[in-house]
Amino acid sequence: MLGIDTIFKAIFLAGFVVGSVVRKIYTFRCRHGKTVRKHKDIVDIILLIVAGLGMVLPFFFIFTPLLEFADYHLPEWLGWIGTAVFAMALLLLWRSHADLGRNWSATLQIKQEHALVTNGIFRHIRHPMYAAHLLWAIAQGLLLENWLAGWAFLVVFVPLYLIRTPKEEQMMLEQFGEQYREYISRTGGIIPRFRK
Ligand code: SAH
Repeated sequence: MLGIDTIFKAIFLAGFVVGSVVRKIYTFRCRHGKTVRKHKDIVDIILLIVAGLGMVLPFFFIFTPLLEFADYHLPEWLGWIGTAVFAMALLLLWRSHADLGRNWSATLQIKQEHALVTNGIFRHIRHPMYAAHLLWAIAQGLLLENWLAGWAFLVVFVPLYLIRTPKEEQMMLEQFGEQYREYISRTGGIIPRFRK
């Protein structure tokens, strides 16, 4: 019989693969898009790299004994909540990539023919992709019983989100002006706003 911790590790790995495939497909579709403005920002790039490490630390936990010293135990029901949260994260990641299309970029950029997307998942929330990563980070913590592998991504992603979002919104305001200001006024940042 597989232990429940092994099942949750397998669920995490399956989610990781699905999320990576979604990202790869849409990155591939964006490959020819030309950038017209790049927000060169060393802090953002360092935070992106560290966040990436937070996302792959689970592999050391799952496949090696290196992080054993930081193991702890969580009740099983938290793992099932983590599974549901991970599913939501993947759904949101897919929809935000699908709706953003060729306007997506890993770093802050304005593309040639960049269009402001305000429909689909972007209708009520300005940062669905960051919301997806936040949910992913929480799910990782609930699925993996290890202080480091579980929570590393959340610890890095929260500052990345807090530091990056104002810069991204500033860039969008410079590019789209009143149109983006109006978009901000009727949407939520990371939590959807449904009120008229
Ligand atoms: N913050 C968004 C997008 C993340 S990808 C989210 O969480 O879903 C980052 C890039 O997306 C930025 O470089 C910016 O150029 C672009 N972007 C962000 N919001 C956008 C929008 N509403 N329409 C078009 N492009 C957008």
